[in-house]
Amino acid sequence: MSKRDYYEILEVSRTAGDQEIKSSYRKLALKYHPDRNPGDKKAEEKFKEAAEAYAILSDGDKRTRYDRYGHAGVGGAQGFDPSQFTGFEDIFSGLGDIFGFGGARRAGPQRGADLRYDLEIKFEQSARGVETSIQIPRHEACDTCKGIGAAPGTSPSPCPQCRGTGQLRYQQGFFTVARTCGQCRGAGKVIAKPCQACRGAGTIEQMRKLTVKIPAGIATGQRLRLAGEGEAGTLGGPPGDLYVVIFVREHEFFQRDGNDLHCAVPLAFTTLALGGEITVPGIDAEQTVKIPESTQTGTTFRLRGKGMPDVSGRGHGDLLVTVQAMTPKKLTKEQKKLLEQLAATLPEQTVTPSARDEDEDRGIFGKVKDIFG
Ligand SMILES: [Zn+2]
Ligand SMILES: [Zn+2]
Repeated sequence: MSKRDYYEILEVSRTAGDQEIKSSYRKLALKYHPDRNPGDKKAEEKFKEAAEAYAILSDGDKRTRYDRYGHAGVGGAQGFDPSQFTGFEDIFSGLGDIFGFGGARRAGPQRGADLRYDLEIKFEQSARGVETSIQIPRHEACDTCKGIGAAPGTSPSPCPQCRGTGQLRYQQGFFTVARTCGQCRGAGKVIAKPCQACRGAGTIEQMRKLTVKIPAGIATGQRLRLAGEGEAGTLGGPPGDLYVVIFVREHEFFQRDGNDLHCAVPLAFTTLALGGEITVPGIDAEQTVKIPESTQTGTTFRLRGKGMPDVSGRGHGDLLVTVQAMTPKKLTKEQKKLLEQLAATLPEQTVTPSARDEDEDRGIFGKVKDIFG
């Protein structure tokens, strides 16, 4: 019986890329897998055929030889044994434990888990930067056993169940399936005499005090990464990282918008009318704002570069000061008299209650003028 063309088997063109070949093979392998087709000899044949085709076409050298000389060029594939084919793990990774492949990977050194710490700071601290200390509970490598888990003077011995490989292999159909060893959970080693300090875990939970340097300009929701300050790794794996997530308390006077700061300053309406200089709190020092004569309530003054520092050191935002006219809550007899005198000299429309929206007022008065003027 002549052999079928490998490209035909994998249902791809001769110019197919690696990714296309891989995904096509994966599709076929899943479709014809013996676990899904128990006792189906035809499916098993197709599965074997696809595995053989993939073994050749996924290998650059072999594919070139096959392209040039056909099956003769890759004679080594005669008597191809899928159970020895090593491409499975790669192909099936990401499929989880569907056929046991996912669990077949040997548990080697594992990186420790990342930790998160939520840190609340004052507005002023976010504006100027601060160095503060935090306390975190975390698993650290056990000092007594140096993270190995065996009592001092003893060492772990190879797992008798899997003979130290961490995997149990058994024949299923025509190929070998490997599963993680249950006794040692893939570590390949068992501890006969556990370390007493950590009960064999190799790690101990400890409160650790750490210094955190918070850069000026940091905002709520931003996080700092402290590399290697997370949980200890296992079996000699590296530790995880610690993420400090920042929450900045609200300020009673300033509202932050990007690197700009907003604030509202209530002023006597006479100050707005006559003009003057006012001082407002700033993040570093008090700031002076010049109020010109006849300033309307709601006017915003921009003080360039007097806002928040940029967290990556690129200058400062602006400080935006909005002035609001205040009406006196209580008037003395004399003040009232003075205001009445003032009112008598002012044109009617400037004392309408909606003087705030100038354009609209002018519009209305303008129209009235048009009709009667
Ligand atoms: Zn220990
Ligand atoms: Zn084992």
